[in-house]
Amino acid sequence: MRLFDAHCHLEEEAFDGDRDEVIERAREAGLVGIVTSPIYPEDAEKALRLFRNHQLVKVSIGLDVAEYGDEEEVKVTMDLIRAHVDEIVAVGEVGLDYRILRSDGPSKEKQKEVFRLFIRLAKELDKPLVIHSLWAQRPVLRVLDEEGAERVVLHAFGGTPEDVRFAVERGWMVSIPTNVVRSNNVQKVAGATPVDHMVLESDSPVLAPNPKERNEPANIRISAKFVAEMKGIDVEDLAEITTRNAMRVYGLG
Ligand SMILES: [Zn+2]
Repeated sequence: MRLFDAHCHLEEEAFDGDRDEVIERAREAGLVGIVTSPIYPEDAEKALRLFRNHQLVKVSIGLDVAEYGDEEEVKVTMDLIRAHVDEIVAVGEVGLDYRILRSDGPSKEKQKEVFRLFIRLAKELDKPLVIHSLWAQRPVLRVLDEEGAERVVLHAFGGTPEDVRFAVERGWMVSIPTNVVRSNNVQKVAGATPVDHMVLESDSPVLAPNPKERNEPANIRISAKFVAEMKGIDVEDLAEITTRNAMRVYGLG
């Protein structure tokens, strides 16, 4: 059985103690790819080192959508993406986050403006986009559509069935996180998403099947089984289809 983790954060401190073991457990679980997404400039080099040392690990460079500091951080992130264009599989996570609008953080308008810059950069570099859309699913879909984005992974998507349809009609991928086993809302999204537009992600270290535990990519095995049962299809088939979807959208093999 081949599995693929379309989005996580392996470079985070949570894995500093046992990162190699975590990657080894993912391999043993059947994973053939893991896309890790540093969201702070200082983490990008750490992620790229993982890519250079582990065949399993791919990198997508983005930023913390709700909390990035200023124009300078946006510029540094864009420069990093350009400088490592041959080593990354995607741009992101980028997008919109309206959950915590801090008074000292970027406004909705500012977030949209920056989001558009990254969509255009991805297009220019011919890379897919990994999209963050917390409490902002509809605005995210609209901006992506206005900008004519083509290859898109909607990471941990929380939209309505209508939003899912909107994405699927445009050929975008809806990414189902491992907390699908315990979240009604994620189950609704998974139910609305046809398997040929679905990828699986862990979003490690968060969104674990068990909320008390640190998440890791090997847990994709648990969500694959759960979603296959939901969909009434064989887990082997779901694993293979979602793996191929991920490889296609990321331009791998
Ligand atoms: Zn994430």
